[in-house]
Amino acid sequence: MNKKSIRDVDVKGKRCLVRVDFNVPMKDGKITDETRINGALPTIKYLIENGAKVILCSHMGKPHNVLTPGFGLTKKEKKAVEAMATLSEQQEATCKYLEAALKDRKKFSLRPVAEKLSEKLGQPVVFAEDVVGPCADAAVSALKDGEVVLLENTRFEKGEEKRDEALCKKLASYCDIYVNDAFGTAHRSHATTAAIAEYGFVDTAVCGFLIEKELSVMADALENPVRPFVAILGGAKVADKLKVISNLLEKCDTLIIGGGMAYTFLKAKGYEVGTSLVDDEQIGYCKDMMNKAEELGKKLLLPVDANITKDFPNPIDAEVECQVYGVDAIPADKMGLDIGPKTAELYANEVKSAKTVIWNGPMGVFENPIFAKGTIAVAKALADTEATTIIGGGDSAAAVTQLGYADKMSHISTGGGASLELFEGKKLPGIECLNNK
Ligand code: AMP
Repeated sequence: MNKKSIRDVDVKGKRCLVRVDFNVPMKDGKITDETRINGALPTIKYLIENGAKVILCSHMGKPHNVLTPGFGLTKKEKKAVEAMATLSEQQEATCKYLEAALKDRKKFSLRPVAEKLSEKLGQPVVFAEDVVGPCADAAVSALKDGEVVLLENTRFEKGEEKRDEALCKKLASYCDIYVNDAFGTAHRSHATTAAIAEYGFVDTAVCGFLIEKELSVMADALENPVRPFVAILGGAKVADKLKVISNLLEKCDTLIIGGGMAYTFLKAKGYEVGTSLVDDEQIGYCKDMMNKAEELGKKLLLPVDANITKDFPNPIDAEVECQVYGVDAIPADKMGLDIGPKTAELYANEVKSAKTVIWNGPMGVFENPIFAKGTIAVAKALADTEATTIIGGGDSAAAVTQLGYADKMSHISTGGGASLELFEGKKLPGIECLNNK
């Protein structure tokens, strides 16, 4: 990789502002999955051991009711309230807004993460109750070498997503070195994920070990794969993965398509696919991709059979009747919700002879056990192979982990969106903004 990492700079005694991805799932104030905290530990531990002053920041969830501290409601919110007819209506609306804001402040606070992190590090983690307010000021100025502060949820600042210059400047005043280690948000261009370095408010901007690892594994696989290189794509819609399909076709030897998106390809091939998910606008695109595969001499594999049902299950995991049909015989009133057993075998065999495999997106409606068999078969095939196996985050990462195959994969990405953009061949703003070697 041509970007500098924390290993390439002297961190001793330096204030390091580290953007991590602590956007962990929470239920009733408890963290339900610690993967993202664990992913950030190598960088944090390295900085502590090397005498840096560590200031961590991250977003958490999507708090909507954010108040600008000291200013109360924004102009737009004020206008809406003032437009109300009576004073009591106005007061009630203001109170409701404040109540919602207070609720979001508790719901999306990073405080539980500070406590968990402190346990994992075996040392106190000071929690600042704001991002750039008086608490953060005090916590940062009291920091000694090897100590750690976690700032509150960066999305409590309205300027985070708007790349606000004043917010970036203030955050930059807290640090000598900006470290980005949040791979999960590296495809976003927000104040703490990229803008702070893009604006030039920090001289030294480097990556942490998580980003370094994610990039080296995925970029390596895409640029210099050990062949045969098989890419497996699934998920709901073709439209979401147009660039990914096109770019991967150029890089891999075999592209396997499953999930809902397979039916638009099948229709483009001339099959009747009943009431399966089809995006008619993308039929031309699918034809182009099939032609492109042929021109490039690449294999493009589509399902040969499907597990079908009459109506989409409601709720999604409801028990419904299903049958397996060849893709040339799907009845007009039925929809395919998973690949069938012959397809699963075909795909598993392709994985067997591969040396590099990347996978993104489920093969069917895996939320329902009846339609999860195809996704499980692919996960198992990846677990059983000696090939380098890379799981591009999101649903496929969750499936592999739930099935207990996580240790058998070479790499499970912590960023679904970011890894998809890498597969598209895009540059990620959170990485582009860092210093070159
Ligand atoms: P994505 O977010 O694009 O990766 O899509 C994941 C979603 O695709 C999951 O929620 C699946 O239930 C859904 N999905 C997979 N296969 C199908 C299918 N054959 N028909 C409809 N939805 C599907």
